[in-house]
Amino acid sequence: MVTMNDLTTIYDSTRGIDTGRTLGEAIETGLATDGGLFLPKQIPAVNPESVSTASFLDMSLDVLAHWLDGTEFTDTWRKRVMDALSFPVPIIPLDDGLFICELFHGPTLSFKDFGARTMARLLGDRLSRTGEERVILVATSGDTGSAVADGFAGIGGIQVVLLFPGGGVSEVQERQLIAKRPGVHPFRVEGSFDDCQRLVKSAFQHPSWSSVPLSTANSINIARLLPQMLYYWWAVLNVTKGLGVKDDPLVCVPSGNLGNLTAGVMAHFSGMPAGGFRAAHNVNDFFVRFLNDPGAVTGSTIRTLSNAMDVGAPSNFERLTKLFPGFAMRGMLSADATTDEQTLATMSAIHERTGYLPDPHTAVGIHSVEQGRRRGDLSGPAIIMATAHPAKFPETCERSIGRKPEEPERLSRLREAPKAVTDIAADIHQLAEEVRLRTGA
Ligand SMILES: *Cc1c(COP(=O)(O)O)cnc(C)c1O
Repeated sequence: MVTMNDLTTIYDSTRGIDTGRTLGEAIETGLATDGGLFLPKQIPAVNPESVSTASFLDMSLDVLAHWLDGTEFTDTWRKRVMDALSFPVPIIPLDDGLFICELFHGPTLSFKDFGARTMARLLGDRLSRTGEERVILVATSGDTGSAVADGFAGIGGIQVVLLFPGGGVSEVQERQLIAKRPGVHPFRVEGSFDDCQRLVKSAFQHPSWSSVPLSTANSINIARLLPQMLYYWWAVLNVTKGLGVKDDPLVCVPSGNLGNLTAGVMAHFSGMPAGGFRAAHNVNDFFVRFLNDPGAVTGSTIRTLSNAMDVGAPSNFERLTKLFPGFAMRGMLSADATTDEQTLATMSAIHERTGYLPDPHTAVGIHSVEQGRRRGDLSGPAIIMATAHPAKFPETCERSIGRKPEEPERLSRLREAPKAVTDIAADIHQLAEEVRLRTGA
């Protein structure tokens, strides 16, 4: 991979037709017009010695200054980024060379807050310059919906329409989705998550929607990956420089759509030290099978306790294969799959051994590293990305350790908060009518 410091970072589609875009254009377009995903044409070089570790925000601005050119990285953008990422990112040493990097201290308690909050502000700025408006349409069953609702709420020029399956999300998730927020319109759909996704797809094609300026905010958008690189830098530099660990640590990422892993790999290619990456999957194991056999095919989605990783065909796979030509991927990436039984057993074993309670997604990550060590595939220090707060999964915690975790104030406050939700059939015409009524589009 070519690395250099170029003043303007250009974004090209993985499919090679939609090329030469600025970051702003790539953000606004989302999915490239040729169906591919945007990646920087050249990865800028960042010298680890020049990166401040004084605070997460200081470090973030140092790293981003290499990724965003002078015309893009204005004082306004700096302020937006600082406002988007103003929450702590603690590193917790467990035992045995294992470190947890907690990414769940944002408003909706999962790492999705980093990407959603940054994207909302950057897109909002761009729209305010052109005077355009957007309706962000999202189907959600997990953490994306609440992060997008919270991140985009109150941003000028943007309204959010959330579709979630009635009875298909947990009580905590529903509480987070239907809390009343300015410019956010949650719809509880009579149907499954697949029905919600179908509605989104047909809205983009259906003529009765042509007057609505639709956009999406899922992890195909490059604006979500850029801020997600920052906590990899933070974690690695804190463990090596801060805690004095000598070997470059392995970085383990609980994975579904592989967006988070792609962000880590981009950080590494730009200069962040790492002793390799581990993709920790649940039984939705396409990527694990692919690393063993390049002819592997994607599967249909299987429901698990780590539901935010229930993805049969990961969308960011296309970015990863573009970043790694040929067989280079297998030298740096490894992957394995963890069952629900192993997830529950890991939660209780870690809790008993160290007093730390990981959420089910993070537990998949811990299990993956411990299993790799037992089998002799992995050695040395490892950082596990903790992608969600255990209190988002009280029932699973209870099954594993016999009690529910303490609820952070951010979650309990939502019990009393005003709610707003519209019940609706899985019908594209009814949805169009309701959306026009509520958004004025
Ligand atoms: C979204 C999510 C993941 C998976 O991240 P990808 O970028 O899709 O691989 C893992 N854990 C949690 C808690 C999530 O919300």
